[in-house]
Amino acid sequence: MEDCLFCKFVSGEIAVNEVFENEDFIVIRDINPQAKNHFLVIPKKHFKYLAEMTEEDSAMLGRILKTIPELKELLELDGGYRLVINQGDDAGQTVPHLHIHVLSGQKMGWQPA
Ligand code: 5GP
Ligand code: ZN
Repeated sequence: MEDCLFCKFVSGEIAVNEVFENEDFIVIRDINPQAKNHFLVIPKKHFKYLAEMTEEDSAMLGRILKTIPELKELLELDGGYRLVINQGDDAGQTVPHLHIHVLSGQKMGWQPA
């Protein structure tokens, strides 16, 4: 999608340091980390909301969720980890391209605001 930052990362139009890539997604480090490790898992396909997903998209997202724990060394998941998907304004979604935050490497509290 034009003018989408994460689509530009996926296409290579904007260079980004990828930690991992496969046919479904890329993984990068968040520019503003909220934990010791803060990765962004970015599907290659552009859509903003889970509510927009097709059956094909849901299969793709299922593959992504299955693959994340397989990257345990790379993402330092051994001690536990947190996945977050922000949806819409109240959640603070700032990039309109669905992505999964992966937080790891430290004990975390729970603070919604
Ligand atoms: P959201 O708030 O939409 O759930 O998450 C967007 C995330 O993208 C934020 O955590 C923000 O720090 C991150 N982000 C925004 N711009 C960039 C960028 O240019 N590079 C990287 N690596 N992360 C970015
Ligand atoms: Zn996009």
